Amino acid sequence: MLHFGALEAGGTKMVLSILDENRQILVRESIPTEPPSVTMPVMIDFFRNHQVDSLGIGCFGPLDLNPASASYGSITKTPKLAWKDYPILSKFREALQIPCAIDTDVNAAALAEHAYGAAQGLGSCLYVTIGTGIGGGLVIDGKAVHGLVHPELGHMLLRPVERDPSPDGFCPYHKGCLEGLAAGPALEKRWGMPAFQIPEDHVAWDIEAYYLASMCHNAITAFSPEKIILGGGVMHQHFLFDKVRRLVAQSLNGYIASPAITDGANDYIVPPGCGENSGVLGAYLLARRALEEA
Ligand code: ADP
Ligand code: ZN
Repeated sequence: MLHFGALEAGGTKMVLSILDENRQILVRESIPTEPPSVTMPVMIDFFRNHQVDSLGIGCFGPLDLNPASASYGSITKTPKLAWKDYPILSKFREALQIPCAIDTDVNAAALAEHAYGAAQGLGSCLYVTIGTGIGGGLVIDGKAVHGLVHPELGHMLLRPVERDPSPDGFCPYHKGCLEGLAAGPALEKRWGMPAFQIPEDHVAWDIEAYYLASMCHNAITAFSPEKIILGGGVMHQHFLFDKVRRLVAQSLNGYIASPAITDGANDYIVPPGCGENSGVLGAYLLARRALEEA
């Protein structure tokens, strides 16, 4: 039986899993993200001890994913300074001597949703996580889009809503981009309480839904994905889905001629079909592909 290593590399924690050929999660461990000198040896030992045949990494970014680049598979800019320019892919390859593959955490999640989740059987989907940050992975014709670097959907610019008491936003790079206006920390800074404590009838959620709907409007007009999947901690507030669907239909104003949108259908903008497992299953898919291609 083959064993696949799946790493969800995040800015606050690393989730390490072992899966078998049938996609069963056999082992799962989580460790805090400390500098590479501390965290890498622990992760290398873990995957070595479980004798994995290949490794897939869904990683926080931005990443260098240009196959022609000398630093392919490195983390580039990150506020986690110890990881800046860290060649995570080549370090694992050198240490483990097995096929290893990497993509952004959100591309990995989008691939999993396409293969096993809410977008099964479709040609395209967009996966967006609204958590500590906002990121999006786009799958078209079954492949994750990389393009020039890779999409940074969380940093698209939005028009602030009038009722927003903090319309300038909080992104250190762009201020009022999507992440600066609508990620969990933006909610917390704007309203002075953790996002999960904001009551359902608070105006905060109308403003949040407006920003998320603006993002969906932009994504629909730019890429026309067949499904939009919204995940991440903030989307645990499930009532947001209906608010977003209504606002997207309103915002597009009948222009996009698909009943999925004009009817505000509840199966177009949806939660992850893989539940909390989109990330791990995405890394697993990367591991499987790495082995097949080796
Ligand atoms: P990360 O993005 O770090 O991987 P999460 O997706 O869990 O992790 O996102 C964490 C963010 O989501 C935090 O800013 C937190 O305030 C927010 N969050 C977590 N749970 C909830 C909830 N139930 N309701 C609203 N916001 C939440
Ligand atoms: Zn930004």
